Amino acid sequence: MKIISDLHVHSRFSMACSSKITVLGIEQASVQKGINLVGTGDLTHPEWLKELKENLEPAEPGLFKVKGSPGGTRFILSGEVSTVFNKDGKQRRIHHLMLLPSFEAAYAVNERLSKHGDLMSDGRPQLSMSAAELVEEIFNSEADAFVLPAHAWTPYFGVFGALTGFDSMKEAYEDQEKHIHALESGLSSDPAMNWRLSMIDKYSIISNSDMHSLDKLGREANIFDVESGKLSYKSITGAMKEKGSGVLKSTIEFYPEEGKYHYDGHRQCGFSVDPEKSQLKKCPVCARSLVIGVLHRINDLADRPPGFVPKGAVPFVKLVPLREVIANATRKGVYSVAVGRTYSDLISSIGTELDILMNANDEDIAAIAGPEISQAIANMRNGNITIKPGYAGVFGEIDLLNRTKREDGTAGQRSLFTSGNK
Ligand SMILES: [Zn+2]
Ligand SMILES: [Zn+2]
Repeated sequence: MKIISDLHVHSRFSMACSSKITVLGIEQASVQKGINLVGTGDLTHPEWLKELKENLEPAEPGLFKVKGSPGGTRFILSGEVSTVFNKDGKQRRIHHLMLLPSFEAAYAVNERLSKHGDLMSDGRPQLSMSAAELVEEIFNSEADAFVLPAHAWTPYFGVFGALTGFDSMKEAYEDQEKHIHALESGLSSDPAMNWRLSMIDKYSIISNSDMHSLDKLGREANIFDVESGKLSYKSITGAMKEKGSGVLKSTIEFYPEEGKYHYDGHRQCGFSVDPEKSQLKKCPVCARSLVIGVLHRINDLADRPPGFVPKGAVPFVKLVPLREVIANATRKGVYSVAVGRTYSDLISSIGTELDILMNANDEDIAAIAGPEISQAIANMRNGNITIKPGYAGVFGEIDLLNRTKREDGTAGQRSLFTSGNK
């Protein structure tokens, strides 16, 4: 049984998140996107947890569904926390994703974590404790917890990030590293980039949306192949724990160049640079430090050449969210009425967003949305696209029909769409 899963989302109680993120809203978005198993997000937030408790009921062991809903969407209790601590003479700010098997576990973990920070302040609370202390507290409370570093490479909050991160998982989590079995590649890196580090071989590489608004749900996801009748919290966390089991079949990725920390750069000056071509540390415009991106960090820590595929590597596909595809192909705004109409037409005629992006045939797409959108999706699937890479918080600019290349001979010099706030 194929389970497409997005384990890292946020509720409206997290900073800079849409007020429309309710339990029912997440269920509806999951159905539209084709997500079968979704994280609840923000389990540490008392008000959100109360709302989850009121709206969800037990389904398979450790999983939940919306009360009385005939739909098949399953929820898994998930939350993200930020640990702030000093180590080796440096302030560290690391984000972690956690999964828990029950509401009782969530209450117990929250009780402990509330001693380290104000859980009411934000759906993704800031805790004054080290990464190792966090993991120890969680596992002392709940032996079946699952904890992993979120968006492992992002410069500010990634466990390997350039600004406050570490050079290895062991340095970050110390003796509690024994509990870490996975990492989130984040939007600005894909599994192939992570395969270049032998130190990552032992971890499952997973991908989630980290959405702050419902339309971003499932922009990255994981596909599990669970034996029929065996779906549970433990079969999902077990699949990530036992990397060789093959239950984690593949992941769905952003094009990493589209992520907002792929290259090095300085946002205020609009300056970006390919770290493989230059090792600049300072912005040539204002002389301030550049934000060192994900590609640079991976190059620094990699012990293998690009293109290396380790044994047991889990395959992946790179997709562009359907609204962005339509906007890009038709040169209209992502949130324009026209794009919204085409999006709805495709969903109502063909199926879920992920099904359209991954499986629908060209003729069916063209019949409903026209040849340009069909071509854009074909190009996306083949990787025959142009991208001006993102940097320092600026999203990359994607050109699915390679117009910039054709029109002025230079790759991707114009912004063809505006992306969302994440
Ligand atoms: Zn985060
Ligand atoms: Zn600058």
